[in-house]
Amino acid sequence: MQSPRNPYSSADIDRASHEREDEERMIELASSGEARFVPIDSEKNLVKTGGNPEAVFLQGMMARAVASAADTQIFLGYVEGTPYFAVDVTGRETPLGELGEFVDLRQVGPLLFAREGSVLAYARGMTYWHRRHRYCGVCGATTKVTRGGHVRMCTNENCKTEHFPRTDPAVIMLVHHGDKCLLGRGKHFPRGMHSTLAGFVEPGESFEDAVAREVYEEVKVRVNNVIYRSSQPWPFPASVMIGFHAEAESMEFSVNESELESARWLSREELRPENMPKDGSFFMPRRDSIARRLIEEWLGHEAGASING
Ligand SMILES: [Zn+2]
Repeated sequence: MQSPRNPYSSADIDRASHEREDEERMIELASSGEARFVPIDSEKNLVKTGGNPEAVFLQGMMARAVASAADTQIFLGYVEGTPYFAVDVTGRETPLGELGEFVDLRQVGPLLFAREGSVLAYARGMTYWHRRHRYCGVCGATTKVTRGGHVRMCTNENCKTEHFPRTDPAVIMLVHHGDKCLLGRGKHFPRGMHSTLAGFVEPGESFEDAVAREVYEEVKVRVNNVIYRSSQPWPFPASVMIGFHAEAESMEFSVNESELESARWLSREELRPENMPKDGSFFMPRRDSIARRLIEEWLGHEAGASING
């Protein structure tokens, strides 16, 4: 069974990756009046605020003016047959301020239509990568954009290394034992927030191994029955979260203070909405996060399905 999608992923984006090779096609699409452009300024997305936030996509004259002032146009694919491009306007003078406000997507993501949020996240992730790969990591020469913005190739004739957009996998896991689950507090969490444990996958490591290692590193607990649940793109700045449930061998734990501030076991009863303290001393992660979904699934609420729209 296909699990419901998490926010920032969308089946409605046809990436049409086979078209990226065709440079003429890319130019034709970008200059056609129907193309929509997704502007990014310093990792921020353009959103019409005041009331329900809405993504601002540029079209026609405005799109051409903005795109011609930017270095890079990235073909994102099609949404319902309309081609979309991301365009990085960081440091450029543009009149876009009249159309909306550049904001961190995480501030408005849960309020956007699921598909809009996905397009904005994708555009943000791509432009972030481009801005950090202007030089070849092998020889230090400049790189140039090719294949619709999905490859940067080294301009040194003797090197010509191709660099691909990177996404760093991170595992995120709800650790449970009997009727309780273990939630922790990272050092930079807002006061009261408790969440699942998480960490980056290392080279040469399976996701399941990464789950076991991270849990042991953070709370000195051994886990079994590591079961995949779902995943979520998290281009803030460059991750994909791979979500699991994992069963603890025992309830004894010891917090690694270089990684976590604290951790605690909570029963299903304690996590019922009506039992949450009203003073903000304990709350769960945001509704657009896979962490929340992993908790809700374990509780049996399946909130993930309902926040997808
Ligand atoms: Zn090179």
